[in-house]
Amino acid sequence: MTTATATDRDLRIVIIGAGMAGILTAIKFREAGYHNYVIYEKTDRIGGTWRENTYPGIACDVPAHMYTYSFEPNPNWTSTFAPGPEIHAYFESVVDKYEVRESIRFNEAVPHCEFRDGRWHLRTSTGREDVADFVIAATGVLHHPKVADIPGLDSFAGASFHSARWDHSVALEGKRVGVIGTGSTAIQITSALVEKVAHFDLFQRTAQWIMPIDVVDYTDEEKAAFRRDPSKLEAIRKQVNDDFEIFSNAVIDAESAEMKEVEGACLANLEDNVRDPELRKQLRPDYRAGCKRLIFSGDFYDKIQHPNADLVTSGIDAVEAGGVRTKDGVLHELDVLVVATGFNAENFIRPTTVLGRDGVNLDDVWSEHPVAYLSISIPEFPNFFMLNGPNGPVGNFSLIQIAEYQVGYILRLMEEIRAGRCAQISASPEATENFEVERSEAAKKSIWATGCNSWYLDKNGVPASWPWSRARFFEEMTNPQLEAYDLAG
Ligand code: NAP
Repeated sequence: MTTATATDRDLRIVIIGAGMAGILTAIKFREAGYHNYVIYEKTDRIGGTWRENTYPGIACDVPAHMYTYSFEPNPNWTSTFAPGPEIHAYFESVVDKYEVRESIRFNEAVPHCEFRDGRWHLRTSTGREDVADFVIAATGVLHHPKVADIPGLDSFAGASFHSARWDHSVALEGKRVGVIGTGSTAIQITSALVEKVAHFDLFQRTAQWIMPIDVVDYTDEEKAAFRRDPSKLEAIRKQVNDDFEIFSNAVIDAESAEMKEVEGACLANLEDNVRDPELRKQLRPDYRAGCKRLIFSGDFYDKIQHPNADLVTSGIDAVEAGGVRTKDGVLHELDVLVVATGFNAENFIRPTTVLGRDGVNLDDVWSEHPVAYLSISIPEFPNFFMLNGPNGPVGNFSLIQIAEYQVGYILRLMEEIRAGRCAQISASPEATENFEVERSEAAKKSIWATGCNSWYLDKNGVPASWPWSRARFFEEMTNPQLEAYDLAG
């Protein structure tokens, strides 16, 4: 027996998450003629990562005009690298302009979805039941804060919070502030806070390579010129695209000339900009640049050399009521402690329970590590598609650009169903297995596999990011190979 197809009913689509990718999906689906869709959003506002992360100094280290939907250029970005609140406002304006808001059910998480009788049966946190033909998981990548397992963290007497749960009621002026971690987040916080607080301690477990960037405000004249002549924005995008091309080719081949160039730029940044040889030594990583997600900053080295700032490298022993005690016995007294220790990067749509064909549980399928064919589709989970899912090119180029290509690909798959050629589509186990084998093999050549610890690595130490070129990603996304799919019904 087959279920009804698009020829006899209006296909219903559930999109989970109203961040960058969910908003994009709604816009592109409507453009493609799908009108029966809803976005379930667990909180009361759109924006995903840009809603959740509001720490001082937050900005996107992808150039602003590239971290923009291709169909909605923004001549008004104030800087070459846009600050977080401005990015959030951009998404709000897109939601209004494209009338996406009316399709969003706010404060409705989706804890359960189950494929039964040829369709997806969902239950939301308000008890609503929904039945859909397609589920699009636009749930983001880094959204489950990882709170470090540091002894005594709860005993701290001052204010303490994770960087993605910033408590804006806590005044920082005149305070002694400590930040644990040296990832992209902690580095941006450092740049923003060092000069604003009484004293700043950065607790470094592992040194980071820093790629210098020029953060430059656009003048009113430049913005007016962008408004008058959109080709200027196109030219910027083309330039950034070319740069990404070089960078993404570099990271997938640790021995490439491009990678050596990136490493050279990071090394020169350190040598040229950190005056004190002892501090320079402490800031010099013992692994290759790009192995961890590279940090882009134009002023971190300046700020960490400010008289207000201390780089603490002696290792944390425990947090106490009065501050952080390091392994050398010193108590670093603090009023505010920020835990910038990153995210659980393997969750994706979870903790939602997702049951595919015959009750197969996504948690079981992903018990080793998350797997998806081309990062989009999972065997036995028909008509369930992910944006920025596992093994995508998350570290190599703009997530917006990636999501745009992925939405195009998903629409092409859905067309098979709309045209009545099948009722269910999911990656075949063989194609997924081959993809996994080839991907894991290719990942060994990448810079991420050269001996460091990072959130790119799965439990077995294999880099989880797309290990091939951008060209290959674009090619795969624009030419879906239907023979890699099980088409049923
Ligand atoms: P992260 O890169 O995972 O960094 C976490 C930091 O916390 C690391 O320095 C880690 O040290 C440290 N840490 C973890 N557990 C610790 C412990 N028990 N004791 C001491 N230190 C500990 O997290 P993130 O900085 O939040 O960034 C996550 C990702 O978000 C980035 O890689 C990037 O992709 C994205 N991001 C992007 C932007 C942007 O501008 N586009 C900005 C911010 C973040 P080790 O290195 O020793 O593990």
